[in-house]
Amino acid sequence: MGLLHGLTPSRAIWYSDGNVILVAGNQAFRVHKGILSQYSPVFRDLFTIPQPQCELLIDGCAVVHLPDDPLHLEFLLSAMYDRSFFNGAGKSQQIAEVAAGILALAHKYNIESFYEEAVYRLAEDYPTTFDRFHSTEQYTLDPFEAAHHAGSIFLINVARRLRTPELLEMLPLAFYLCCLLDGDLLVHGVKRSNGEREKLSPDDLRRCIDGKEELMKANGAATTCLALSPGNLSEDCTTLDECKAVLLAIMLDAFESDILSACDALTNIGPWIEEKAKTLGMCDSCGDHLRNTHRDAQKVIWNDLRGIFNLHEHKHSSD
Ligand SMILES: [Zn+2]
Repeated sequence: MGLLHGLTPSRAIWYSDGNVILVAGNQAFRVHKGILSQYSPVFRDLFTIPQPQCELLIDGCAVVHLPDDPLHLEFLLSAMYDRSFFNGAGKSQQIAEVAAGILALAHKYNIESFYEEAVYRLAEDYPTTFDRFHSTEQYTLDPFEAAHHAGSIFLINVARRLRTPELLEMLPLAFYLCCLLDGDLLVHGVKRSNGEREKLSPDDLRRCIDGKEELMKANGAATTCLALSPGNLSEDCTTLDECKAVLLAIMLDAFESDILSACDALTNIGPWIEEKAKTLGMCDSCGDHLRNTHRDAQKVIWNDLRGIFNLHEHKHSSD
């Protein structure tokens, strides 16, 4: 190991019987050519065709310098050597970081199964249809926490880099979630596992700043269904006076709870409306009407996200 000349052997990925040392940044990973070749045709070719630049041997291992992000390479190798690695990635932010890192290299080294698995894991947190989004528990008023979605920054950056259709499809929701992050996260970026920060590009940061205002307006429009107007109660209502009084109470409560003034226009407040309607004595018909009207208004916002963030050009480029 003394022969590594300023390189740091990876603590996680250093097999003493390995026969190749991959170097990215100042990180060195001692692994097996056979394992890498089994997963990746790009590595297979690299090891089959004699590489004059790999003449250097340390400890009997060929040394291969890669221009990759060391953290991404660590994620990729961890996933190769430990098939439960992905499942252990824990919280949404870590999943996004690990998945984005693996995606970047799985795409480059043509490891289809890892690419697909990473997309699959991301799609669980970033649904691409309104119905799936609306029925995902983490996007319901309680327990929704904007800060839990800081991993969106990783997703946006990898989607920008690879520009594959399945990742571009997740961009509108990722931008929406980024808009809900506080200024510190948005400007200084989300912390990576190695302590560095992952930031949005200046253009994407601008999209979020402009998007916040658009979402606030959209939320204002969507929540007009809580205003005290006759169309906001059900045509089948037989207790109109009582339901009007309840609607007024719900609207005042929404004002006080910042539901009308926030930019989280897509947070599912259906269960909140349902609970208020029930406890305050609104009839079932009006309660359902209220929830459905708000849900329909949110669907319009969802369909407009590409426009809000000016993402239309990506749709064309991926065709
Ligand atoms: Zn009613």
